[in-house]
Amino acid sequence: MYDTIIIGSGPSGMSAAIYLKNANKKVVIFEKEVPGGKILKAKKINNYLGFNNIEPSQISYDMYKQLIDLNIDILIEKVIDVKKENDIIIVKTNKGEYQSKTLLIACGRVEKSLNIENESKLIGKGISYCAECDGSLYKDKIVSVVGNSSSSIEETIYLSNIASKVYYINYSNEEININKENVYIINNKKIVSIQEKDDKLYSITLSDNEQIINDGLFILNGYTPNTEFIKNLNIKGDNGYILVSNDMQTNIDGIYASGDIIKKDLYQIITAASEGAVAAVNIIKSLNK
Ligand SMILES: Cc1cc2nc3c(=O)[nH]c(=O)nc-3n(C[C@H](O)[C@H](O)[C@H](O)COP(=O)(O)OP(=O)(O)OC[C@H]3O[C@@H](n4cnc5c(N)ncnc54)[C@H](O)[C@@H]3O)c2cc1C
Repeated sequence: MYDTIIIGSGPSGMSAAIYLKNANKKVVIFEKEVPGGKILKAKKINNYLGFNNIEPSQISYDMYKQLIDLNIDILIEKVIDVKKENDIIIVKTNKGEYQSKTLLIACGRVEKSLNIENESKLIGKGISYCAECDGSLYKDKIVSVVGNSSSSIEETIYLSNIASKVYYINYSNEEININKENVYIINNKKIVSIQEKDDKLYSITLSDNEQIINDGLFILNGYTPNTEFIKNLNIKGDNGYILVSNDMQTNIDGIYASGDIIKKDLYQIITAASEGAVAAVNIIKSLNK
């Protein structure tokens, strides 16, 4: 029986694991892909304190190594179901079934892609899903944004203060207006293809064959939280995001959540790591009672 099972080895789960292990708790992380989580999708990390312009693979390797040095188990298994029976949490993976006193769900979210050829190939080579993360790489350059929500409009305004020109390709049904002289709104058109040159994004082509040559394309169509495996738990959520209290606990006693999977305002490494730490400290308090 574990003290805590953590689902997801992104910055949130890894940060929590360090606190739990240091408090001498029996902890394990289940990860369905590779340790590091979404960090590995970034081009360069230049906004995490203490690391300047660092390669995503380097920072995620350093985090992973810190866990290995502490003898924290990271099992590459996909969690497929979670139940709670008589105060015991039962986690089922594709390889086995495990029991724990507490659970931390830190399994992040997946960006909604356009499903166009070259899109996944050019992630980090001109294509991004996060203005706050990668916007600074496009100072005085031309970028396009595909968006359909008020947050994509906010991120467009954010980019307009960095880039020289921003095309906003409006995927929503409503016509919109952004009052910034370097923002050009394109209504009622879709991106039909993405072109590359020298292994980098070169241009996009719209449904009327207009071609826009740009340095960056921000796909801001929203995200899908990774919650399919907790459907049997009746955890309270909002659009798939888990709702937590200030101590990171869900509505179910002993089950916590942190990082990109929770409903919040800022989805970054620094907040994910911080929430993992807050969750862990509160889990430790509950285990020590
Ligand atoms: C393209 C891109 C660039 C970014 N750039 C930056 C940046 O420059 N600076 C910054 O601060 N932030 C950046 N971010 C955001 C940052 O990466 C996330 O906010 C952060 O990684 C969230 O951490 P997390 O631990 O909550 O989730 P994640 O990092 O998403 O980790 C969750 C982990 O859970 C695993 N998982 C999911 N489901 C299961 C399951 N069923 N079983 C087992 N494991 C599972 C996933 O495989 C994943 O490894 C970027 C994000 C993207 C997409």
